[in-house]
Amino acid sequence: MNNVSFPRPRQSDVGEKLRVEVREFLNDWRGARHDQHAATIFGGFDPQFSEALGARGWIGMGFPKRYGGGGYGLVERYVVLEELLGARAPITAHAVADRQSGPLLLRYGSERQREEILPRIAAGKCTFSIGMSEPDSGSDLASVRTRATKVDGGWLVNGAKIWTTNAHRSHYMILLCRTSPASQTRHEGLSQFLVDMKKSGIVCRPIVNIAGDQDFNEVHFQDVLLPADALIGAEGDGWRQVTSELAFERSGPERFLSHLGVLEELATALKRQRSPEGVKALGRLVAHLATLRRMSRSVATLIADEQDPALHAALVKDLGTVFEQEIPEVARLVLRTEPDPTASDSYSVALAHVILNAPSSTIRGGTKEVLRGIVAKSLGLR
Ligand SMILES: Cc1cc2nc3c(=O)[nH]c(=O)nc-3n(C[C@H](O)[C@H](O)[C@H](O)COP(=O)(O)OP(=O)(O)OC[C@H]3O[C@@H](n4cnc5c(N)ncnc54)[C@H](O)[C@@H]3O)c2cc1C
Repeated sequence: MNNVSFPRPRQSDVGEKLRVEVREFLNDWRGARHDQHAATIFGGFDPQFSEALGARGWIGMGFPKRYGGGGYGLVERYVVLEELLGARAPITAHAVADRQSGPLLLRYGSERQREEILPRIAAGKCTFSIGMSEPDSGSDLASVRTRATKVDGGWLVNGAKIWTTNAHRSHYMILLCRTSPASQTRHEGLSQFLVDMKKSGIVCRPIVNIAGDQDFNEVHFQDVLLPADALIGAEGDGWRQVTSELAFERSGPERFLSHLGVLEELATALKRQRSPEGVKALGRLVAHLATLRRMSRSVATLIADEQDPALHAALVKDLGTVFEQEIPEVARLVLRTEPDPTASDSYSVALAHVILNAPSSTIRGGTKEVLRGIVAKSLGLR
């Protein structure tokens, strides 16, 4: 049975020094732009902001210096990320590349892929999307049907992906394909590819979400010819690679800080409208937040120590996203405010955004039922 202790998070003097620098940088940025972003959930897609962060050395912080990175540890990266999320900074243009595609290439990519792509990610000039889910394969990723066939000069890709966040504005996608038929073990025969989104035969069809935003897409591949060296890692090793990538995706502070804006707005609103019940409810949420932060920082320490964080990451993502959904539920009951994305007061606007976006928290990156399955299996319960 797995040991589920969450080790004491490592403190870093370098990280705490960085925290001060990031806060100063964000104060300057906020001076000009805070109002515009005050009610947003993830802070928005802003390539210029990503480039400014890249120039500071705050993207790809864990990459070795020879690939344009800062050679920092994960603990320092965590400090910078939580400051950015806390300020609701617009990090979407580089977040996926920084969090998972870059580390994936660092671990499994060829030397050519690392040399070509990692410095661009670290400079904040490279947006990535994740091509895993398909119309009939979301939770059950082993059943993907998009196929890459070996041909003269490379690989021919045919199939479709769905819910692909930012595919329409990405430079690259990390694409999961079947490269040989499923044998008795369905997890065999899958491979990952680095796909240049400018390749002919790729069509992105927008999907508009319930909040009226276009963040994700359907992406169709029709006879897309990829060069032989687009393969990432070993042919047929896709499942192992994807599993390690998902641990990066599931454990970070973005899994419980994306609705922080509403908590802040609620605290401000409670200063105006006295409500002892409201203050109690806010205190309870903040206590949960502190516990989640402690757990998530533990996972960063585990990953830094090269231990398997899959169980811990699943727990953090499940608890974190359920917490994110609880915030609008509590906020809605505490203060009788009509959520309205067009209102003039920032609390109503923030509440409306969060109510519309909260349902997706427990789906993207692995549904809560699937995560609980992983936890149960790891604990020997099934
Ligand atoms: C906002 C958002 C952004 C996304 N971005 C991306 C992206 O960039 N790239 C990408 O590849 N995907 C992305 N996704 C897709 C997401 O990862 C999938 O939607 C998710 O994995 C669920 O897959 P599905 O939609 O096929 O649902 P299904 O797998 O069909 O699940 C339907 C229901 O059945 C339950 N279920 C399924 N299997 C089990 C099981 N074994 N045990 C118990 N219950 C089960 C699920 O929990 C769910 O409630 C995104 C989704 C959202 C909402």
